[in-house]
Amino acid sequence: MKILANDGISDLGKELLENAGFTVITDKVEQTELATFIQKEGIPILLVRSATTARKELIDKCQSLKLIGRGGVGMDNIDVAYAREKGLKVINTPASSSQSVAELVMGHMFSISRFLNDSYKNMNSGDFSALKKNYAKGVELRGKTIGIIGFGRIGQSLATYALGAGMDVIAVDQFTQTIGLLVPIGSSQKIPVAINPTNDLASVISKMDYISVHVPKQSDGSAVLGSKEFELMKKGVRIVNAARGGVVDELELIQALNSGKVAYAALDVFENEPNPNSELLNHPKIACTPHIGAATVEAQDRIGEELAELIISEFGKQ
Ligand code: NAD
Repeated sequence: MKILANDGISDLGKELLENAGFTVITDKVEQTELATFIQKEGIPILLVRSATTARKELIDKCQSLKLIGRGGVGMDNIDVAYAREKGLKVINTPASSSQSVAELVMGHMFSISRFLNDSYKNMNSGDFSALKKNYAKGVELRGKTIGIIGFGRIGQSLATYALGAGMDVIAVDQFTQTIGLLVPIGSSQKIPVAINPTNDLASVISKMDYISVHVPKQSDGSAVLGSKEFELMKKGVRIVNAARGGVVDELELIQALNSGKVAYAALDVFENEPNPNSELLNHPKIACTPHIGAATVEAQDRIGEELAELIISEFGKQ
């Protein structure tokens, strides 16, 4: 049975599938050629990450497809309900990348607190004293308050890191039941901490020194940080979006950075991937990464392993 892993799969996942008798194709097929390739090769299993899309038209054209697998969480690049209606199985690996995304967010928060991304770019200017002056007003994370909007798997994982770094955590979610976290201290101790999320963002947003958003793409496409929320934020707040492009309004963000309301921002996701608004990419107060939240060896191994297990349990060994 052939598997097209169009956005790649970890060596471990590939090996598990090949050992079970599957043929795994990892040569990337351009989106425009994808339906033709799947038809020609009679591919029953399509695996994607976030780059390849599997929309209604592709599903209609590719009668050979039996399963679409998403390595990772958000399935907004797949017409899931339509695929299921057509009898296809759709799977994903929701928990495997939470820790990797949380660590990227911590990296971004440290980076934008000390201007690392701007400093990397400008070190060859030759004017050391001007550079030192530019980067003289860094801030520390310990003692600050982070607002985590969307307190699911990634939000909760991020909270353990933020608490470990000595930050106070305000959690915002639609669901407000108390969440018991275990904060790892070294590799052998875990400290229990209870967090009570609120569903009233407006009443707490002004207390946040950092805001990190971890909601899925909203079904109506709306932003959870739009003009009203920017208005209510504390002056000098730092914002990270490693969730989905558009959950933080990009134009409002640029305006708020230019006015000084927001001190700095970091974006791993963009509205128009893979061609984001160049104003975001070139903005001196925005640190960008190219949607690499889940891109760690460990997460990719967990994703590959989980996908392989799900596929083998669905179709058996070949
Ligand atoms: P999750 O489903 O575990 O958690 C999402 C939480 O957001 C839920 O608790 C939900 O109740 C809450 N929520 C939804 N809309 C909300 C709103 N308007 N206000 C407040 N809370 C709201 O999902 P997760 O595993 O934590 O992942 C979150 C998102 O992160 C994914 O949907 C995906 O878009 C993104 N993600 C990005 C990367 C990356 O590479 N940057 C990797 C993985 C996931």
